Amino acid sequence: MPDDISFIRARSLSEAVVHLSTRGARLVAGGTDLAGSLHIDRQHASKIVNILDIGELRGIDPTADGGLRIGALTTLAEVCGQRDVEDRYAALSQAAFCAGRTDLRDRATIGGNLCQRPRCWYLRADSVCLRKGGDICFAVDGDNRYHGILGTASCHMVHPSDAASALVALDARARIVGPSGMRVVPMERFFLPPTVDASRENVLGQGDILTDVLLPPAPTGWASRYRRASEEGTDYALASVAAAMLVIERRIVQVSVILGAAAPVPWRSREAESELIGRVPTRRVVEEAAEAAMADAMPMADNRYKVALFRALLVDALEDVSGLRPPA
Ligand SMILES: Cc1cc2nc3c(=O)[nH]c(=O)nc-3n(C[C@H](O)[C@H](O)[C@H](O)COP(=O)(O)OP(=O)(O)OC[C@H]3O[C@@H](n4cnc5c(N)ncnc54)[C@H](O)[C@@H]3O)c2cc1C
Repeated sequence: MPDDISFIRARSLSEAVVHLSTRGARLVAGGTDLAGSLHIDRQHASKIVNILDIGELRGIDPTADGGLRIGALTTLAEVCGQRDVEDRYAALSQAAFCAGRTDLRDRATIGGNLCQRPRCWYLRADSVCLRKGGDICFAVDGDNRYHGILGTASCHMVHPSDAASALVALDARARIVGPSGMRVVPMERFFLPPTVDASRENVLGQGDILTDVLLPPAPTGWASRYRRASEEGTDYALASVAAAMLVIERRIVQVSVILGAAAPVPWRSREAESELIGRVPTRRVVEEAAEAAMADAMPMADNRYKVALFRALLVDALEDVSGLRPPA
């Protein structure tokens, strides 16, 4: 890291955008990920812009359309403990609870959770992998026990954020403010697959700030669930499932099935969704959906276990969300 790195506390969004628009500037919120990931970028950071003083980026408020707005600086502890989030967007509350231990949740922000850098050990090491301008993914012939099984045509990392899968399942949107103004992007399109751009994980460009997450109104009867499995002693998910479902007159009329730790982006399983839509939920139907979700899986030498794990989590999450199993 260069010696002449400068630290700035931005007092407003516009001030932060100006500072972040300069080459080498990096944004810091809670700092729990940035501290360990600054070295990833080959272009060294010359300026760190702290946004924690920008009050308008905090808080959870109802929106005019009956949804919810969550400011990017809202901590994971605040997200998972908020009554409206717990009641209407359960998958998000459950995912935010998983995304780190108590002391971490008190500091880590939802914006930082969504924008955190991947955990892939080849990316975080000195190797010049595909994401750093190289031409191979070292996971293919290396230690790939935590890597992806779906959507891994080039880079095999998995998206690290628990909240990301839940927000995609809940049809949330991301509000972004940057040098060219404000824009709103569906959360599903916020994350970029490596086949589109392997040098970054999301649509944010230099100077862009994720300011809020916008949740749609929750229709009556809409249920959602987040289930994950992790190894004892490690923090990140080995596999996770975020599911949201609306059942009317016993039939599934709306469904989202998103897999986490499966692919470089939160992975929508269209195969599972088409098995479910229009059907009466039963144990057999959810098992068929779980099978379909794994039909195209391409595990590598060390991560075959993920296929069985995903099947089990899918059945669990789908049974919960469809009301086949009464809430615990
Ligand atoms: C021990 C440990 C265990 C963890 N376990 C999990 C886990 O199981 N599941 C999980 O999901 N996460 C996990 N995390 C990740 C953790 O949730 C993130 O580190 C945290 O949410 C990041 O928030 P932050 O405010 O500290 O972000 P920072 O560290 O400040 O920023 C992280 C990155 O996001 C960018 N960024 C931050 N906010 C914004 C914004 N508003 N707009 C644009 N860019 C932004 C920064 O520039 C930086 O690149 C773990 C982290 C640690 C250290």
